[in-house]
Amino acid sequence: MGKEAAMKIAEITTNRIAVPLKKPFKTALRTVRTAEAVIVKVTAENGMTGWGEAPPTAVITGETLDSIEGAVNTILAPALTGCNLRMAEAIFHDIDKLIVGNTSAKAAVETAVYDCLAQLCGLPLYQLLGGYRREIETDFTVSVNDPEEMGKDAARYVKDGFRTLKIKVGKNDMATDLERIREIRKQAGGAVRIRVDANQGWTAKQAVKAIRKMEDEGLSIELVEQPVHRCDLEGLKQVTDAVDTPIMADESVFTPRDAFHVLKTRSADLINIKLMKAGGIRQALKINAMAEACGVECMAGSMIETRVGITAAVHFAASQKNVTKFDFDAPLMLKKDIVEGGIRYHGGTITIPDAPGLGITKVCHEGGEDK
Ligand code: MG
Repeated sequence: MGKEAAMKIAEITTNRIAVPLKKPFKTALRTVRTAEAVIVKVTAENGMTGWGEAPPTAVITGETLDSIEGAVNTILAPALTGCNLRMAEAIFHDIDKLIVGNTSAKAAVETAVYDCLAQLCGLPLYQLLGGYRREIETDFTVSVNDPEEMGKDAARYVKDGFRTLKIKVGKNDMATDLERIREIRKQAGGAVRIRVDANQGWTAKQAVKAIRKMEDEGLSIELVEQPVHRCDLEGLKQVTDAVDTPIMADESVFTPRDAFHVLKTRSADLINIKLMKAGGIRQALKINAMAEACGVECMAGSMIETRVGITAAVHFAASQKNVTKFDFDAPLMLKKDIVEGGIRYHGGTITIPDAPGLGITKVCHEGGEDK
């Protein structure tokens, strides 16, 4: 058998970006006005470059801009420089084992490695990972405001071509949350799918009460995401068992092991996979495979990320049959686009470029731009 020459990682570098949002993004956990992230670039010895993004979501993954840069520049980059891209499983194993937690930092580095790997194979990343579909449809999040404004926003998004809307609840009193959902259902019409995300904002009893009320009023909610605290798996199961509306685990599932517990105990009907929680595509694929084996479909979602991170997440989502729901509206909330190449939006439809890897050709950051 011929011996394939190694393709070594020559350099791993980071740059910061900050992009203002068109409208503040409010959830039960936080309010975001500017999308910030660390952009990771992996350069191979032949000059090929791969990209990744890590947003600092302190209230979700515990990471900050400084901690992400620290994890990448002092732990991951020194250990991975010189590693052979043709032995990717060894690299992914190192990323996983070199530092506990720090899932977004890991995801950014791992995504950039996958980008290089797919370019090496001459395939768009989603095809390297499996290749199930080349187009997906995202929902759009209605920002939390007074019910009337949310209703108007919802009607506009439907006109713009979005057929699924996501509503954030759990931050204020339940009566106002219900009023918001009613108003959105009224303004958006009966054909629109509505998903609700409580971001851990309720107790199990509050969640059961709220969801039963939505069911009784015929508000026709597609699913409710993470009704209770991430650690409260018993509460999550209690809600799942008590209502007809499908319940989705988000913050409760970071790792494949978390997914195992939720799947084993049947605590949720669906799982929301995010690369930034899982620590990258390799772990995301494992979670999805476990869920599929248990008959549980997955959504692929994201943090507030630019088209760098979302392009990677879309490649993952498009590669897997069992990922059936998509929450990738974050780049549409940004005032400017810092990326050339990558995924494209037409209303709610996302298309993936045919180029090998992620298909990203340039990223603008605080220090200038990079190719
Ligand atoms: Mg969520």
